Order: sequence, then structure tokens, then C-alpha cells
Amino acid sequence: MLFTTEWLAETMTGQGKEAFKTAIAILEVTTDSRKQTENALFVPLTGDRFDGHDYVEQAVSNGAVAVLWQKNKQLPIALPDDFPVFYVENTLIALQQLATAYRDLVKPEVIAVTGSNGKTTTKDLLASIIRTSFKTHYTEGNLNNQIGVPLTILSMPADTEVVVTEMGMNHAGEIAALSHIAKPDYAVITNIGESHIEYLGSREGIAEAKLEIVQGMTDQGCLLIDGDEELLNSVHDKPHVLACGFGDSNDVIIKAVNVTINSTWFQLSGDCDYSTPLLGRHHALNAAFAVTIGKLLNINHAKIKQGLSAPEKTSMRFELINGRNGSSLINDAYNASPTSMRASINVVRHLRGFNEKVLILGDMFELGDRSKQLHRSVADSIDSSVTAVFTIGNHAGEISSAVKQRYPSIDCRHAASKETLENAVAAYARDGVLILFKASRGMQFEVLVDHFSE
Ligand code: ATP
Ligand code: MG
Repeated sequence: MLFTTEWLAETMTGQGKEAFKTAIAILEVTTDSRKQTENALFVPLTGDRFDGHDYVEQAVSNGAVAVLWQKNKQLPIALPDDFPVFYVENTLIALQQLATAYRDLVKPEVIAVTGSNGKTTTKDLLASIIRTSFKTHYTEGNLNNQIGVPLTILSMPADTEVVVTEMGMNHAGEIAALSHIAKPDYAVITNIGESHIEYLGSREGIAEAKLEIVQGMTDQGCLLIDGDEELLNSVHDKPHVLACGFGDSNDVIIKAVNVTINSTWFQLSGDCDYSTPLLGRHHALNAAFAVTIGKLLNINHAKIKQGLSAPEKTSMRFELINGRNGSSLINDAYNASPTSMRASINVVRHLRGFNEKVLILGDMFELGDRSKQLHRSVADSIDSSVTAVFTIGNHAGEISSAVKQRYPSIDCRHAASKETLENAVAAYARDGVLILFKASRGMQFEVLVDHFSE
């Protein structure tokens, strides 16, 4: 059981029908009326194109035993008179307030992870380490927004000791709101990239928005930052801030990194060496955050190493798969931003054991006015260790043309259609060739990867 309707009626601002004041056990909180539930509290949310209040009867037939209700909405006549309904001003705000109240009831240690890239990865590494020693609950998949964070908190079992929640944003103010909801004891800013720059104006704007994460932190809270990022220098020396990174001035220094086809190995200053199956130097940083928090929670070395070595891997994130004719494919089609695209290309460039390396790159979305320039900037991470660069989309051609100018010997082509691209890739699908697929999710590169899988 999460809580009872009686507790909710006592804790929340609003008016409950009489039935709400008798204790009904709530086992889950849902905003999805289609989901089969058991003893759920249904929270109808109102969006631009839908109104959850229209689906209350469906939610009830699927297992909801109580509902929140926005006061300005009409009640469906079909609900029985004595059905527990709790009236609030705004159901989204009520969901968020309920999450905070439930967090205060359960009192877990809360870890919040934000940043432009690496949130989900760091969250998964943290969960993998922490669950070796504590009852741990964490964000499912990528539920990291104004609805996902409250739902993450509201799905934790009542005996949860640590909750790890990812926090994402598109606009200024959103991380502050999430921080006030979750009240983190530990927070991580994985890095500052260019994602959502179209809404935040500049990288400085992005850094400021990420730093909002401190606003709701508990007094003793500890913030971990990407210490190599100049835009975070302003907080470097503040108490309760730990800078992690490759530079010598960091509090936690990543000293040596070795990336192979199976793992990333690294050493931390004043500590031992670690290894994770996630490939790339950037994952050494994500792992350093997770190790450091593991140590702050007094988890022993052996367990930290064990957790780091076996995180749940999410598909389409730098997933190595066998391709046609003995080729090797890296499916990194989950999403892309300039920072993550450069990071993936760097990993591919440095991986040993392949005769040739081919990059299939597609558009990165939401880059606003600077989109062309940011696409072009990806070319800086490409050198003659790459045999071919094929691009597709409205702006990705900037990458292949910039590479062509610098390295005429690289086979660079911009494909006008999916068929042209497939034909170009097909010529390289052979033994000893490593092919990277990377683009924003909307480019549906997973279809292309499927086409070339063994
Ligand atoms: P989203 O905003 O989509 O939720 P996210 O912040 O959760 O993204 P991940 O899903 O962990 O990020 O990783 C997304 C991409 O970023 C992957 O391709 C990964 O390789 C790359 N990446 C992960 N960590 C870093 C990092 N510290 N620096 C640069 N790129 C990174
Ligand atoms: Mg994510």
C-alpha cells in the first residue's frame, strides 16, 4: 500500500467527498485511464488535445477506486454517489503536491540527476549500485518531466530507502519546480550541452537552468557537477559541491581511462579502479558520479564495483549488434544532440579492432536558429580514422560537407532519400567494418539499423 484516501484528505488542500475520509488503501497512482490497475488513485490531467476527466469511467472500470477532480470540471453523472472523489484547484499541481507529501511520509534519501546528456545513464548506474545495499526505487525509462517525476515518487513502495529520479527540462524554471517537488539530498549535473538551446537562448542559459536543481535541495544536500565545464565554475568552490571530471582541480579526478569493445576502465583519485560495460570516456564521468554517491551512502567498494559492472542497459543507446556480412553496428539511435553525437563519434574513433569505421548521422532536432552551425560543429570530432560519413535529413548535410572539405579522402555523402542512404551503407556492410547510427529519435534510425542487422 502507498497510502490511504484518509491520509490524502488530511494532507492535501481540497475537499473530499465523505467516502474519501474513510480509509481506502491506494496501491498505485495513475494518470493513464487505459492502464489496468489495482486499487489505484486516478489523477485526470488536462492537456491541449485531451482531458483526463473524460476518461474517469474508463479508469474506474480498469481498477481505480478513488479520483482527484479539478473543481471547474463537470462530474460525469455515471459515477456512483458514494464514489470517492477529491476536489482540487488543479490536478497537475495536486499530483505534484501529493508527490512531495508522499516523499515526506516515506522519507527516502532522494537523488536527482539532471544535465544535457547522460541523465538516464547516470540514473541507471546509480540504481544499479545503490540497490546492492538499499531498497531502491528509480525512474522508469525516461519519465523525467513535470508529470514523470511526481509519478516516479508516487510509485515508490512505502519502505523505499533511496529514490533516484531523472529530471529533464525544455524551459527555464522547470528544474526548480521539480527540485521543489522531490527535495533532493543529492543532485548531479552531468554536463552542459546544447539540447533545448532554442528555448534557453545560450549555453549559459542552459547552465543556469540546470543549476536550479539546488533550489529545493535539503540543507545537507550535496551537489555533484561536471567539474570540467567552465559554465559551472561559479559553484565549484561552494560548500556541499563536489566537482568530478578529468581536470586536476576537481575534487574527484578521473585519472586513466581505457575504452575497449567490452568495457570502459578508469581510476579515481584517492580510490581504486572501476569498470563498466558502457563504452566511452563520457561514461567514465557518469560512472564517477555514481561511484561518488555510492561512497557517500557508505556502500562498500565491492558492491559499488558489482553495481557498476551490471547496469540495466537501455536499448538503442550505443548498443553493439552484429550486422550483415560480419559487420558490427552500433545502434545509438535513441536520441542525439551535438554533445552526445560528438561523444559517440569519439568512442567509435578510438575503438580498436576494426579495419574501417563508417558514420551514419541524421538530423538532431530542437536546435533552433543555430541548428546548421551546431550540425557543422559535429564535423570537428571527425578525422581521417573514419572511412565514410553518410548523412540524411534537413541539416545533417552540414556535417558531411564540412568533413569533405577538410578530409577529401573520406567518402562523404549526403543522401537525399532513405534508399540512397541504404545503398551507400550496404557497400560497407562487411567483415571488419564498424558502423555507427546516430540521430534524433524522430529520424527513426532504428528502422535503418534493423535493415542492416544480421
Ligand atoms: P534525454 O534528454 O533524452 O533523457 P539523457 O540525458 O537521459 O537524455 P542518456 O539517455 O543517458 O541521456 O544518453 C543520451 C546520449 O548521450 C547517449 O548517446 C550517450 O552516449 C550520450 N552521453 C551520455 N553521457 C554523456 C556525457 N556525460 N557527455 C556527453 N554525452 C553523453
Ligand atoms: Mg533520459
